[in-house]
Amino acid sequence: MPWSGFQPSWRPGCRSKRSTQRASRNGQPFSRASHEQAALSNRLERGSNHPDAANVKAGTGPERRIRQALHRRGHRFRALLPIVVSGVRVRPDVVFTRRRLAVFVDGCFWHCCPEHGINPRVNVTYWVPKLERNRVRDNLVNLALAAAGWRAVRVWEHVTVEQAVAAIEAALEKGERAS
Ligand SMILES: [Zn+2]
Repeated sequence: MPWSGFQPSWRPGCRSKRSTQRASRNGQPFSRASHEQAALSNRLERGSNHPDAANVKAGTGPERRIRQALHRRGHRFRALLPIVVSGVRVRPDVVFTRRRLAVFVDGCFWHCCPEHGINPRVNVTYWVPKLERNRVRDNLVNLALAAAGWRAVRVWEHVTVEQAVAAIEAALEKGERAS
């Protein structure tokens, strides 16, 4: 892999690693374990912001509502347009090609939102590396975009459509002033 030398660091809110160590040291299952396991399975089943679920992602959820709101406000953009930046293939949720602005709506679970990211305490050998790969990938994508002269806006799926649109419009306006 071209980015194997990339050194990950944990986001402050993503405490899965520590929880994993604690769980394995005392060897006791947490009482919430089965509840969390059910939550994890539900997230998988209903589709999510995971790259593998891109076809699900295209049609539903916060991404769609944000795109609709942007369109209503007169913005024209490409949805889920694959772009190759610095040799990395990226598929942002919203792409402003001329402005070189890529928007990602990050799922709280898959991208370890500090407010809603779940610390996996069950199947840790499965979940922790999976979530860690996503986080490393996010960093790689941000770096690749920046190196190619693109800007990235990341909004959490938990923010309101209005907040997301405001963040995107602020970025567009900033780009306009800079050019
Ligand atoms: Zn969240």
